[in-house]
Amino acid sequence: MASETTITSGLAEPASRIAALRSRRSGLLIALLFVLALAFPYLIGNDAYVNVMADAFAYATLALGLNIVIGFAGLLDLGYAAFFAIGAYTYGILSSFQLHPAWSSFWQPFAWLELVQKVPLGDAMVVHFTVSFWICLVLAALIAAFFGILFGAPTLRLRGDYLAIVTLGFGEIVPIIVRNWPWLTNGAAGLNGAQPPRLFGWSFGVWALPYYYVVLGLVVLLIFVSVSLRDSRVGRAWMALRDDDIAASAMGVDLTRYKLLAFAIGAGFAGMTGVFYVAKLQTITPDMFMFPVSVMIIVMIVLGGMGSVWGVVVGAMFLSLLQSWFLPDLSTWASAFGQASGIGFLQNVDFTQSTELIFGIILVLMMLYRRDGLIPAHRRQFAMSFSQQNAQVGESGSFRLSGIGGEDAANAATPALEIKGITVRFGGLVALKSVDITVPAGGVVAVIGPNGSGKSTLFNVITGLTSAESGSIRLYGENIVGLKPHAIARKGIARTFQNLRLFTNLTVMDNVLIGQHARLTTGPIGAVLHLPHARAEEARARARAMEILINFGNRLTPRINQNVAALSYANRRRTEISRALAAAPRVLLLDEPTAGMNPAETLELAQQIKALHNLGLTVMVIEHKLDVVVRLADTVVVLDHGEKIAEGKPDEVRQNEEVLRAYLGRNTQAGRAGIAA
Ligand code: ADP
Ligand code: MG
Repeated sequence: MASETTITSGLAEPASRIAALRSRRSGLLIALLFVLALAFPYLIGNDAYVNVMADAFAYATLALGLNIVIGFAGLLDLGYAAFFAIGAYTYGILSSFQLHPAWSSFWQPFAWLELVQKVPLGDAMVVHFTVSFWICLVLAALIAAFFGILFGAPTLRLRGDYLAIVTLGFGEIVPIIVRNWPWLTNGAAGLNGAQPPRLFGWSFGVWALPYYYVVLGLVVLLIFVSVSLRDSRVGRAWMALRDDDIAASAMGVDLTRYKLLAFAIGAGFAGMTGVFYVAKLQTITPDMFMFPVSVMIIVMIVLGGMGSVWGVVVGAMFLSLLQSWFLPDLSTWASAFGQASGIGFLQNVDFTQSTELIFGIILVLMMLYRRDGLIPAHRRQFAMSFSQQNAQVGESGSFRLSGIGGEDAANAATPALEIKGITVRFGGLVALKSVDITVPAGGVVAVIGPNGSGKSTLFNVITGLTSAESGSIRLYGENIVGLKPHAIARKGIARTFQNLRLFTNLTVMDNVLIGQHARLTTGPIGAVLHLPHARAEEARARARAMEILINFGNRLTPRINQNVAALSYANRRRTEISRALAAAPRVLLLDEPTAGMNPAETLELAQQIKALHNLGLTVMVIEHKLDVVVRLADTVVVLDHGEKIAEGKPDEVRQNEEVLRAYLGRNTQAGRAGIAA
């Protein structure tokens, strides 16, 4: 073991050194960019350009928010501008003369807090709302987040196209409501007279400079929040549900909660931006928030790179500046050139008229040549060196892992899993017919049977992915039928899938970290504030992931930072098993773990599963290779057409006539020879 560890860490080292170097370099670049952004107004010395830049930053904040919804969580939201509108109208209403209820003593405390003023209107006294910009920034984020949850809730069951259509609907509804509610919003005419922000009694007025610094601060804040979330348990859960929601729920990710969280945080970002936007313009109309705005923000994200925090900032800045700075300049130059050269059509060309056409062309070109955007979210994969590829694979067939099995093996009186009378029907097809199986604590039960006999369906019922028509499943005595998949995962059942369900856009390390989701507790606040307990938990989780991965020798450890899409089939299976083990399950379900592996790899994996069993882990395994079954299992259960046709010790089962007939067809003589071999 000692030598194995040194080999492994020796290989992991250059990778971590490169990562450290890279992060130092990007840290320097970020610092440089920030200084440049701070100095920009003084370098350029032109208020109009500072203003244009401030608008570009406002778009960057919107793109950062939508990136959480679309890029991180994979929820295609076409109505994002609605939240921008909600934020904008929050400030518009709370800082203008739109609402002016009659004054009464009720308002006095608010007046002391400087949220309202008592002003004369005709011969009555009325309330004038004067809620500060800074308060509204927070308040609008909360209100928009609330609407994010409200609009998100009906879409929870929807995916892809359907989700997009519903969000499109909400995006249309909000401006319509705004237009038809003149009492609150002054309708189509728009709301005027929103106050410019004040700082220590000094009003920003119409000077672009203070707005520029405020929105720059907002961009920095939202980048920080985005990066912190992305690299935390929360961000990994989002990306897991984006890549494969079924696998995510089987790993303990509560889909409802994380989808709503993404909607809420994304909407919160838009709400803040709305406040800024109104404060700067001091006027709003409903048509500032129509569908084209939502589309524009999506184009920015696609251009920059979905899911890439820096990418979407660059994409948003680029398109925004293109529209309001480069295209007008280009038009001016073109007409100057036209006049000088006498080319008629150039003299009155105006590129700003065709902004949408230009956006469209950019989008098409991006899709054709650079689908991942200007700054892709996923790092380019570096080929591994020869020595890494051919590194000695450590001692195989063993498994060293703390915290597996122990407590349950001691408590062996109750069976780990007790399946009674489970029936599953898909329309007319009965996939499982009143199946009973008992898995003793610390035992290994193998499930075999021909294709389509209901083996995978059995695992799907146990993990809550398919619902049973009747029957009960008890995990250490507790009925788990009817629980959601993530709740079952939390109770201690982890699984792998027959057709590999890894999170393909994530690295090996991230996949294994998501396996630990249910065991960790960090939430969005802990992640953003980098609280000590969150940091310690993250470090522990990574150490645990390494502890698991190292058991596969050098097969996975040099590849921890590679996307799983780059792995060989066998290594993907190993990653999926590691991910399941990361959940520290009480019962591990393996669905054809050796499918697609060569005989040597199969043998190695069988030994490793055996070693897990020796640690006390309870395992249920679906397996086609009978030599593996014989080597591993205490008990074999045979399914055929959804019915349990035999159960017993491996040796007994392979003598069973009915099994031979079901498994190997009529030619039982040849079949017996085949099995015995
Ligand atoms: P096995 O894993 O033993 O090969 P499965 O459990 O995958 O078999 O499938 C058992 C039967 O149930 C098959 O006839 C299959 O076509 C059917 N089946 C499985 N899942 C579904 C589903 N989601 N909808 C309809 N039929 C299904
Ligand atoms: Mg199957």
